[in-house]
Amino acid sequence: MVSLINIDPRRIVKIKEICVETPTVKSFTFDDKQCRGARPGQYVMVWLPGIDEIPMSLSMINHLGLSRITVGKIGEATKALHEMKIGDRLGLRGPFGNWFIPYQGRVILVGGGTGIAPLIPLTKDLMGLESDVTFVLGAKTLQDVLFLNELQKFFLNKRYNIIVTTDDGSMGLKGLVSDALEDLFKEINYDMVYTCGSEPMMRKVFDISETYKTPIQTCVERIIRCSIGLCGSCTIGKFRICKDGPILTSKQLREVLDEFGKFKRDFDGKRISF
Ligand SMILES: Cc1cc2nc3c(=O)[nH]c(=O)nc-3n(C[C@H](O)[C@H](O)[C@H](O)COP(=O)(O)OP(=O)(O)OC[C@H]3O[C@@H](n4cnc5c(N)ncnc54)[C@H](O)[C@@H]3O)c2cc1C
Repeated sequence: MVSLINIDPRRIVKIKEICVETPTVKSFTFDDKQCRGARPGQYVMVWLPGIDEIPMSLSMINHLGLSRITVGKIGEATKALHEMKIGDRLGLRGPFGNWFIPYQGRVILVGGGTGIAPLIPLTKDLMGLESDVTFVLGAKTLQDVLFLNELQKFFLNKRYNIIVTTDDGSMGLKGLVSDALEDLFKEINYDMVYTCGSEPMMRKVFDISETYKTPIQTCVERIIRCSIGLCGSCTIGKFRICKDGPILTSKQLREVLDEFGKFKRDFDGKRISF
């Protein structure tokens, strides 16, 4: 007999834990059956009744337990999230979108700001494949560095490499993650680059990867509204980030070079420069 799958499109979850990661970033942990089956890079739509519904990557996926989102305080919805307490409720839809394909080999992950979030569960999958992992972690200043402790715990006693860059040099290398990537590429051949962060930053990472003929997987963040490919608010060229993405590959990015990292859409769908 054919059984119907209960897809339970929108549900309510309780916040179980809140972690203050940096002065502007908090993580929220919750228990949700659907998220347990998510893949690194997928996102959920977080609904705050009366305020907004916004896309958030999963920064932790536990097939048996809790999931987590990591939220930068930007505007109305994210500020409201930052005021929430343990036990408060969130509406959830998803997980949506495609995901990073883990590569067994020598890989480099390049994350900037809250863009590091989806790279954390990917790191776990890569470690499971015994890949040789280098993680370049970018932040504005020392106090904005995200997930360094968590990554150091993952990498304990292993030969994995973490490189921190800060814009002001208050921790690690001074400069942009893309500068560090370029220097690394001069010494080492990587098999795959994974990146998430601001689009202009990812464009630089993409251009460097192209120079060194290395494939890349990028997690692109655009304004997502419907999350099911209907409204068009998240388009980049012929792709709808909500459905065709959020992960775009080198081949796909080559088709949207006039837009990627150069223009985005505003809330009215108007094309504006970054
Ligand atoms: C697939 C995906 C995954 C994401 N994952 C994370 C995450 O893990 N952590 C995190 O902190 N943020 C993430 N974001 C970005 C997050 O959704 C926005 O910061 C959030 O929607 C802003 O809502 P707000 O009401 O606080 O700000 P608003 O008041 O709506 O906007 C404030 C500013 O943020 C910009 N903005 C608004 N919505 C988006 C958006 N969807 N994408 C990019 N810029 C936007 C606007 O242009 C505006 O300038 C993700 C976005 C996408 C598309």
